[in-house]
Amino acid sequence: MNKCMPAIETKSDLTDSFSRTISYLRLSLTDRCNLRCVYCMPEDREEGLQLLAHDDLLSYEELLRIVNVAVKMGMNKLRLTGGEPLVRKGVMAFIRSLSEIKGLEEIRLTTNGVLLEEKAAGLYASGIRKLNISLDTMRPERFRKITGMDMFQKVWQGIEAAEKLGFAIKLNVVAMNGFNDDEFIDFARLALHRNYQVRFIEFMPVGKNSTWDKRYYIASEKLQEMFSEVGTLDPLPGRRMDGPAKVYQITGSDGSTGSIGFISPISHHFCDTCNRLRLTSAGRLRACLLHDREADLKTMLRSGATDDDVRSLIRQTILDKPKGHTLVEDLKSSDKHPCGGQMSRIGG
Ligand code: SAM
Ligand code: SF4
Repeated sequence: MNKCMPAIETKSDLTDSFSRTISYLRLSLTDRCNLRCVYCMPEDREEGLQLLAHDDLLSYEELLRIVNVAVKMGMNKLRLTGGEPLVRKGVMAFIRSLSEIKGLEEIRLTTNGVLLEEKAAGLYASGIRKLNISLDTMRPERFRKITGMDMFQKVWQGIEAAEKLGFAIKLNVVAMNGFNDDEFIDFARLALHRNYQVRFIEFMPVGKNSTWDKRYYIASEKLQEMFSEVGTLDPLPGRRMDGPAKVYQITGSDGSTGSIGFISPISHHFCDTCNRLRLTSAGRLRACLLHDREADLKTMLRSGATDDDVRSLIRQTILDKPKGHTLVEDLKSSDKHPCGGQMSRIGG
């Protein structure tokens, strides 16, 4: 630990130029994945997909050092993502080390669920209680089409194993016209009959090879209209932990209730309340998912940076956090590619 670091850190370290408090760090542990989702790592565009060499990833020691500095600055919530975080070797021991960091109130995980059945108990034992699991379809053949892999059963078993252990589960569904729009009602029913919050995410154009096309895009509002057939939606008061999702209680005709969320980065961006900072799997600090500006923390660390230097770079990145993304404007201008970063490196 650097002796120059003041013993008492101030919350204002986390205040950005637009008075938002950036208390939530997302770590992309790897850019590798055991699936090839059409909207994230399209299989047929693999040539364009550049995977990082192992040495290009931050080591677990480097990651722990960064998290320790961030927590001392006041950050208290961490999400592990990727790529698929559970494919990285040694991840369970890393999570155990994270769970020992004092001041880190919560560690959450976003996973595709493929390795969940075997790892759920270990994750629970490390103190993780909340999982976001991505699932765009409940039809095995369609799952293979969307993800490139025949893994639906494995993922479903993982979800059920996690439920049995007592995890709070949010299912992330990327809403795509022509891919899974005929299943939104089934997902709403799932929210009514199982204790999962189902969250629909607007398909975003991220990455140079993005398959995004406006024909596939569905705005959240249009989606909500579809649910009248299953039940009524009543907005729930925003909770800090809902992040960017607008959450509704759904009440079915038989009186059953559930929870449905909409993440609408395109139709209703949530930049005003954004509290996130991202560390990409390439070791770069990124203040906005949809804005390509990044700070190279890895090179700095590997050039002998002190904890104070790390802290200054985090502080500067927070100060440089843009007011909001310009995706909608960029999409209107044909010569401007909205977001060149690779989703699997950034971590969503
Ligand atoms: N592999 C893990 C998973 O799939 O849950 C974690 C990483 S993944 C990049 C994080 C989230 O980003 C997932 O919920 C995924 O569905 C979402 N995502 C990826 N590409 C997207 C896109 N183009 N538009 C909207 N959501 C996307
Ligand atoms: Fe893998 Fe997640 Fe991207 Fe799908 S969304 S390819 S599971 S990183």
